[in-house]
Amino acid sequence: MSTLSPINLLGLNRERLSRLLESWGEKPFRAKQLMRWMHHFGEADFDRMTDLSKASRELLRAHAAVQVPRLLSGHVSDDGTRKWLLELSPGNAIETVFIPEDDRGTLCISSQVGCALACTFCSTGRQGFNRNLTTAEIIGQVWWANHALGRDPKGDRIISNVVLMGMGEPLLNYDAVVESLDILLDDYSYGLSRRRVTLSTSGILPALERLGDRAPVALAVSLHAPDDALRDRLVPINRKYPLQELMATCQRYLQKAPRDFVTFEYVMLDGINDTPQHARRLVSCVEGVSCKFNLIPFNPFPDSGYRCSRPQAIREFRDILVQSGFVVTVRKTRGDDIDAACGQLAGQVMDKSRRAQRFTESLQ
Ligand code: SAH
Ligand code: SF4
Repeated sequence: MSTLSPINLLGLNRERLSRLLESWGEKPFRAKQLMRWMHHFGEADFDRMTDLSKASRELLRAHAAVQVPRLLSGHVSDDGTRKWLLELSPGNAIETVFIPEDDRGTLCISSQVGCALACTFCSTGRQGFNRNLTTAEIIGQVWWANHALGRDPKGDRIISNVVLMGMGEPLLNYDAVVESLDILLDDYSYGLSRRRVTLSTSGILPALERLGDRAPVALAVSLHAPDDALRDRLVPINRKYPLQELMATCQRYLQKAPRDFVTFEYVMLDGINDTPQHARRLVSCVEGVSCKFNLIPFNPFPDSGYRCSRPQAIREFRDILVQSGFVVTVRKTRGDDIDAACGQLAGQVMDKSRRAQRFTESLQ
């Protein structure tokens, strides 16, 4: 048993936690108790976990900890959208966003600091890859949001849905993401149904195949273009995993998925991918894949080189898809006043993380 640095229990799924406890001579069922305390009740102090024996609590205190990211700031938008800036380690900060709607409350979380995939319209991609988040850091976002939001008057959690649509490509941080999914889905922790957890990917196909077997959750795929030539430009990973293979993998994923459709995300870029011709080509591109579309108005950032499509172009594009029989949503821009739209968190983050670093350095 290590006495060097305490093990952070927040990032262990039930299987790992049971094994660890067993190796310490504890009964494996303690894992269920601990998970309930940490994730269900949001407790980080072993001494308040009252149904653990004194000896167990002492053991845990000596070798383990429940470490959550440090909250740097929190914001509430006029429309109720909330955003938290969390410090992972000195110089690395991420944002987590909560979007309340009439029938659900969705938390948008990040899986990496930055992203290596360099999609040309994405500010995270522009900033390059910094590092993967650990499972504890991914789950730490949910822990914080739950802690800050509390429960509704009926005692239910405010967060009903979680989407991996913040910074980073979740399937390039596969192991940590899959273990985070275990914790999100576990009845002893967050107890979310697979249908209410959505992973968004630009299409890392071998990892998507594995996800289908290991932890199938609802799937969103960042499509953004109806043909390889354009997608190669907008989403460079398309050169490695082109559209035909992407569609075939989606079809296979659907056989295991909790929902019987994939959501294709499509960012609306003025004059680039938003003409009626693009919409018609999109209809043939997805043929044979049961899907819905989510049209995302482009969120501009400095020197992006793109503009958001005109509202009229978005409407026409949507109408062509609807007339072809698809369900289409156009994402509302939420939390504009606090820069809090999913997939658009990064713009400020590196700045803020650098600021956080300077701030931390100034304290030393
Ligand atoms: N890497 C994953 C998940 C994070 S991005 C993915 O690409 O799917 C979440 C969503 O926001 C993706 O659909 C992404 O393409 C989109 N997005 C990124 N930058 C955007 C921007 N500037 N405006 C609108 N949507 C953007
Ligand atoms: Fe990465 Fe997704 Fe941004 Fe592409 S859109 S650079 S995959 S975060």
